[in-house]
Amino acid sequence: MTTQWTLTLDVDWAPDYIIRSVMKKIAAAKIPCTWFLTHKSPAVDELLALDCVEPGLHPNFLPGSTHGATPKGVLQHLMTLFPGVTAVRTHSLVQSTPLLMEMIAAGITTDVSLFLPAPTPCEPHTLHLPTGSILRIPYNWEDDVAIWSAGRMPLFESTVFLSKRTIFNFHPTLIYLNAVTLDQYEAFKKAKPQTPEEAQRFISSGNGTGAFFDKLLQAYQRRKVEMQTINETAVAWRSNA
Ligand SMILES: [Zn+2]
Repeated sequence: MTTQWTLTLDVDWAPDYIIRSVMKKIAAAKIPCTWFLTHKSPAVDELLALDCVEPGLHPNFLPGSTHGATPKGVLQHLMTLFPGVTAVRTHSLVQSTPLLMEMIAAGITTDVSLFLPAPTPCEPHTLHLPTGSILRIPYNWEDDVAIWSAGRMPLFESTVFLSKRTIFNFHPTLIYLNAVTLDQYEAFKKAKPQTPEEAQRFISSGNGTGAFFDKLLQAYQRRKVEMQTINETAVAWRSNA
């Protein structure tokens, strides 16, 4: 079996200098990837101009969301910013049956908000609800959960990734900070550094999230793995269903 990976990123309102830094790595590796977007900005526009980047939506349904006061309003806001995008991962993985029904009614066809930690495989399935159906593609590796798991969740070197389908999720800010702990991220968010120079003191050295991300890109560049975006996964699954 060929090793097949999907690379996804949740933007989570990362500042433009961080988006550009991660974008530079992605453009150099020409690695296909799906970015779940929270906002528009000059860097987001540059990102979407890359052939290897596919957009998804990252709606915030939490109380106090800047995306809108109701689930419908949140979806409308993002779907107006990014017309024609029909794949979603919700911020903080907020999900419920009424929310999925609302997403289906709005025209969302694919949901990637189910996290099933590796080595659980990412088998897609169709969920049928009163407003219609939605394809759900679970994902099984996430940077912040790997940090919380502190060694209990397999990292890149683990053989668990060598023969199985893995869907990774990264946060650009955790890559940029090469995060080893989430305290580092919280301190960064509190300080709100506006430039790379101001952000420098929050960056870790050694074996952090950024180093792990670089290894993933190197594995792709050595052609050790096949990459499939979320939409490609959805199309392939639907054609076999
Ligand atoms: Zn998020």
